[in-house]
Amino acid sequence: MTKIDQILEMMAEIAPKSLAEDWDNVGVQVGDTNQQVKKVLIALDLNKDVLEEAKSNDCQLIITHHPLIFNGIKSINSQSECGRLIMELIKNNITLFSAHTNLDIVEGGLNDYLAEKLNLTNIDKLSITDEKEYYKLVIFVPENALDVLKEVLYKNGAGHIGKYSHSGFSIKGKGTFKPLADADPHTGNKNEINEVSEYRLETIIAAEAAEKIKRKIIKAHPYEEPVWDLFKLENIKKEIGLGRIGYLKETKTLGELLEEVKEKYSLEYLKYSGHKNKKINKIALCSGSGADFIKTAAFNGADLYLTGDVKYHEAQLAEELGMALIDFGHYGSEKYVKSLLYEKLTEKAKEKNLSNINFFKSQINTNPWNYC
Ligand SMILES: [Zn+2]
Repeated sequence: MTKIDQILEMMAEIAPKSLAEDWDNVGVQVGDTNQQVKKVLIALDLNKDVLEEAKSNDCQLIITHHPLIFNGIKSINSQSECGRLIMELIKNNITLFSAHTNLDIVEGGLNDYLAEKLNLTNIDKLSITDEKEYYKLVIFVPENALDVLKEVLYKNGAGHIGKYSHSGFSIKGKGTFKPLADADPHTGNKNEINEVSEYRLETIIAAEAAEKIKRKIIKAHPYEEPVWDLFKLENIKKEIGLGRIGYLKETKTLGELLEEVKEKYSLEYLKYSGHKNKKINKIALCSGSGADFIKTAAFNGADLYLTGDVKYHEAQLAEELGMALIDFGHYGSEKYVKSLLYEKLTEKAKEKNLSNINFFKSQINTNPWNYC
């Protein structure tokens, strides 16, 4: 049987919590993560219709993009919608988990998904939010355990840098140790100095994977006291950020792109500013409400910027900066969270041989706006 914790471990690999913006509140919102799970509902928001959907499909876990709990809660009661939802989740033993800005920011997350839908090339971050740190892991391992340990480390993300995986180095040497009276050594004699043929294995790990790797080392290493060091790398850092910017394979007019955007993102309506005959080659985009990055997009040379929730004066600003703008809606850009997470979780469950688990995309349209 699968536990909710196992699904959340998969979510941590898809969108690590450490990537989320400081103001955000991602992770477990409500519920018990130690319980068993067979069915998971994936939604953009939690509202009472989505909760009913989870109940009628017998789901034990709901994963949403927008967190239910944002600001500090002073009370949980039936006087507020949030309180009613929390009470209902607990009564029905349903756990609620959210991946928000961490899913927007992560490589292969929502913004990359949107950029790929437009077939953009040379995709880069639009606004840098942080720098990802790396460590060098040095570990000493007996010769006969080297291959097993390497496999465990590489399977859990060690040795992964840029477009390369399994990056490492090893050199043979002699290790010495003396097991004291209470020790339970894997090899060697007690109260004697033992010499053993060992390898010094070096590899790279991302800072957010350090805790997990530590647990895996303790589990996989044959020694009672494995010897290993972690060195913070000052020369390798990776920028992470919100939004994406990239190039079209061939220049198009804004008019052509309006039709393409509607079709590729399955939108019936969209708002835009700029002349339909404007030539577009470089495009920036940001899911959700990204009007704060209008200047960033223009200063980075974007001919067109796509985002949601754009106000009147913000559209005027884009016009003043000579950049075309498409408002493809907050819901319009973020509804793809359901497909994205469905695809990634199904793939990960397969990799991990979790056969008794089913993921569902919510059928509820949580967009408060109607168009006529
Ligand atoms: Zn949003």
